[in-house]
Formats: sequence, structure tokens, C-alpha cells
Amino acid sequence: MTTYYEILEISREAPLEEIRTAYRRLALKYHPDKNPGDKVAEDRFRQISEAYQVLADLEKRQLYDLYGDAGLAGLDISGLSGFEDIFSSFGEAFEDFFSFGRSRDRWDEPQPGADLRQPVVLTLEEAARGMDTCLSVERRVSCPQCQGDGSPRQTCSRCQATGQVSQSKGLLKIFTTCPDCQGAGAIITSECPVCQGAGVISEKKQIQVHIPPGVDTGTRLRLRGEGEAGTRGAPPGDLYLEVCVAHHPVFTRKHKDLYYRAPVSFVEAALGTEVEVPSLTGPTRLAIPPGTQPGATLRIPGRGLPGLRGKPAGDLVVVVDLQTPTRLSEQQKQLLQEFLKLKDTGELDGFKGMEA
Ligand SMILES: [Zn+2]
Ligand SMILES: [Zn+2]
Repeated sequence: MTTYYEILEISREAPLEEIRTAYRRLALKYHPDKNPGDKVAEDRFRQISEAYQVLADLEKRQLYDLYGDAGLAGLDISGLSGFEDIFSSFGEAFEDFFSFGRSRDRWDEPQPGADLRQPVVLTLEEAARGMDTCLSVERRVSCPQCQGDGSPRQTCSRCQATGQVSQSKGLLKIFTTCPDCQGAGAIITSECPVCQGAGVISEKKQIQVHIPPGVDTGTRLRLRGEGEAGTRGAPPGDLYLEVCVAHHPVFTRKHKDLYYRAPVSFVEAALGTEVEVPSLTGPTRLAIPPGTQPGATLRIPGRGLPGLRGKPAGDLVVVVDLQTPTRLSEQQKQLLQEFLKLKDTGELDGFKGMEA
């Protein structure tokens, strides 16, 4: 004959917790709700319930260990006359029982610290150079008074720290969350005055951070372990710096490239010239070829922003912003009139096709 231990697939020395775990696992597997119409599963479930009922009860287990089934004869277990009744009342308790240890946060379980996010606003120059700076970060750390314990607790006497109480339904014992401790297994007796029982306190800390050259709006920098404190030895979270690069009055940024609009008079654009253009590393000179058209773009390689993680730098893109003179002297007007008269003589040929 199969013993209750074999039914629950455990050894004769199994402690109560192991019996519970085995029961939970098998009962979930063979529960009639999961196996509708399956007579074998229903039978297995009945056996599992019966075995659990005996082995989870110290007195019954001792009788069973000493005398086998005979020891339980007077207790009328094998009949399970209350079977139907158990099923109808099992529903609510079932979920409660099986969620134990999974969804509920027990007070003594270590919780890893949360990640933190901190915005960092940089000028374009700072983003290009990179920088070492000191940030003031507010975060929760383990309470120094109670070492993160929060509130000293006493073992719950009602459930003996198991977080559950049993009640008899028919012949089965149904386990529900202990009403005294709400399943925590312990009751708060006093509260830490420093953290009001939270186990953590808010703290402002100066953190030295290195921002590499080339960051852009949206770049996230991770500082491992600089987030909030974990409880009971669990690791702290990380701190994420979220970079935002401010708009620049002169340059527009597109990824690694910098755009600059250079004002060039139409005469200079026609004849060709050299202009001085600013860059993040100081002014530089750029040749505007003869016949340059409005909006033409000229690239100065490597004078944009540095690439992240050693990637090549971007370009400085100069956009030709053609200026038409608005206040001409009489002499300038005359010269332009002269120029206009020459328009049809083919003198303009040399200016064709010079678009950059
Ligand atoms: Zn309790
Ligand atoms: Zn405290």
C-alpha cells in the first residue's frame, strides 16, 4: 500500500515546510479545476489532500508513523465524507494558500534597492568636452539607527511565525492568512524613532560623476550601486543620469554633426572668398568657392562633436546663408547696373555649375 509519504513524494523525515511545499505543488497539479473530468487526477487529489491532512498535523503524523493506517482508524480520515463540502469552500482559501511566499512581501525578506533617475543638464560645450562634476543626489539609504530593520518585531503567537492559520472544513484543514500579522509571521512591537519604522531614511549625497565627451540629449549613464539602499543586505539599485543638452545660440546639433549658418554676401559667394567660422574648439577658416549657391553646405571634417566610446568625431557643417545687400551706395548701385547690362553677354558663364 502506498504511504502518505510516497503520495506526497517526500521522505519520512520531511519537515513541515517541505510537506507544505510538496502538497502545494501536487495539489496545484491535480486540482480538479485544472483537470476537469479527469477521474485519475481527482483520485490523486483526494489522496494528496488526505496525506497532507495527516502529515501536517503533528499528532496525527505521530500516530501514523507509529501504527500506520491503524493508528488513524478512530479518526475516520480515509472516508473523506466532507469531500464535496471541501471543494465548494476551497475556492477562496485555495488562492490565498497558494499565493503564500510568492506575492506577499514578508517583512524579513531582503528587498533590492530601487533604481534612481537624475536629470543632468549640460551646455553643448560641456557635452563636447565631457566633464567631471559633483552631483547632489537625494536617495533613501539604510537607517543608521536600526540598520534597516525599521521596527523590531515579535514572532506572531497566533500563527507561530508561519503567517497562516488553519481552520477545519469538513475533514480538511484549510489554511488562510493569519489575521493577526497579515501573513508576515511577526508583529511590530515598537517603531524606530529615526525612520518611523521604514528602515530607510532620505539622504542627500554628493556623488562624483564623470561625463564622457560626446553625450547627447537622451544619453543615459549608469552609476552602479548608487541608487536606493536595499533592505537586509540586499544590493542597492543603480543611479541613471539622464543627459539633456541645452540649445546653443550659434550651433545646431544633429547627432555628431554641428550646423552653423555662415552669412556670405552674394558678391562674395559669386567671386569666392574665405570666411572665418566658429567651432567648439575655436575659430577656423573656410574657403567659399566661386559661384556658391544659397543654402549650399560645406563640411569641415572632425570639427563636430566627439564620438562616444572612441568613435570618430562628427563634422562642422557650414550652411551658406546668402545675404542680399539692402543699403547700397550710389556707386554700388551704378556698378550693379553695369553688371546687369553685361548679363546677356555670356560673362556669367564662369559662375555656372559651382554649387558645392
Ligand atoms: Zn500570525
Ligand atoms: Zn530606523
